[in-house]
Amino acid sequence: MTRRARPAPRPRLAPADPGAAYRALQHAIDRAVRRVLRRGVYILGPEVAAFEREFAAYLGAARAVGVATGTDALTLALRASGVGPGDAVVTVSHTAVATVAAIELAGAVPVLVDVDPDDLTMDPERVDAAVRALERSTRPGRLRAVVPVALYGQPPDLPAICAIAARHGLAVVEDCAQAHGAAVDGRAAGRWGRAAAFSFYPTKNLGAVGDAGAVVTDDPALAERVRALRQYGWRDAPVSHELGVNSRLDELQAAVLRVKLRHLEAATARRERLAAIYAARLAGTGLALPPRHAGRRHVFHQYVIRTPRRDALRAFLHGHGVETQVHYPVPVHLHPAYAGRVVVGPGGLDRTERACREVVSLPIHPELTAADIERVADLIVAWTRTSDAVPAAAVGRACPVAPGAAP
Ligand SMILES: *Cc1c(COP(=O)(O)O)cnc(C)c1O
Repeated sequence: MTRRARPAPRPRLAPADPGAAYRALQHAIDRAVRRVLRRGVYILGPEVAAFEREFAAYLGAARAVGVATGTDALTLALRASGVGPGDAVVTVSHTAVATVAAIELAGAVPVLVDVDPDDLTMDPERVDAAVRALERSTRPGRLRAVVPVALYGQPPDLPAICAIAARHGLAVVEDCAQAHGAAVDGRAAGRWGRAAAFSFYPTKNLGAVGDAGAVVTDDPALAERVRALRQYGWRDAPVSHELGVNSRLDELQAAVLRVKLRHLEAATARRERLAAIYAARLAGTGLALPPRHAGRRHVFHQYVIRTPRRDALRAFLHGHGVETQVHYPVPVHLHPAYAGRVVVGPGGLDRTERACREVVSLPIHPELTAADIERVADLIVAWTRTSDAVPAAAVGRACPVAPGAAP
């Protein structure tokens, strides 16, 4: 008889570990789950209402509306901001495909602009160029909104983006799926635009034990519209006033999120401390590190470095028991669903395509210790000293690498 092989244990040194996040708060989460099971109200009940109040308060926003996913949050936030068929919406291609999908699910046409070459978030100059190019045109649609993404936890230049949008009468709807607690000039990411979408997918900085999302806004009328849209277009009575969807948040997820929200600031502070260790140890290696901007709080959903030899680096780390990830190996405009039909803004998407060849996400979640991060960083330093590592001068915008040069 052959012994059945045990599944390999999940590596601890990985970019995210939702199971470890549960175990860290197991007692409180188990209690919250039992409370919901015993109460017998499972959808849109008191836990959802309380979580909505508590999450809005955490951000300093007037309203939060719980929905089923981050994708739904963005779709419904766009619809409630007046975006629909015949409209165009500017966003980035270096993001989760959900950002772009949500724009199409709202009925609008996405227009993709390039990112800043250093922080990899939406470049305001490219937004400005796209807005000018599209302003007097009805193709691909009447420009209605801008969706900046706080990618990897790094908020984009929201003051500049919001100023451009305001000049042209466009709504800003923030994709904050990776940015719980991020801020610019002391104002939370999610409070710069007319509305913001958050995801609580299990690996996000605030993660449920299933799918969950929320729309955040200071506009009570917009919040009420999202409340109607998330449940068949119902308002006070079960009577539909417009085409809605079923995107309700359930009580179990809300109860778990309430427990985790109480620990979010501590978890974020931990991410910041771990990121500082990477920054100190990897400085001088020539690897491109996440830039720190004065006035912007990066919450390190991911710690993303760049090297043209990232596949070799990943293989090296894997050989030492360290798992990494690539978010995102293929830019959205090159996914089969979008290639050849998506609208690209002025200036093209060269920086986005290059980033997708060079980015690698290192382990960073709050259940890791300083010693874990030191170990990963020291492995990377050792790797950069091996003869096949790329010299420092080949990384960064001063010395572009030709397409296809990366292995
Ligand atoms: C996770 C994510 C989404 C989608 O959220 P889901 O909850 O998975 O639907 C949208 N945008 C970004 C940037 C994300 O990281």
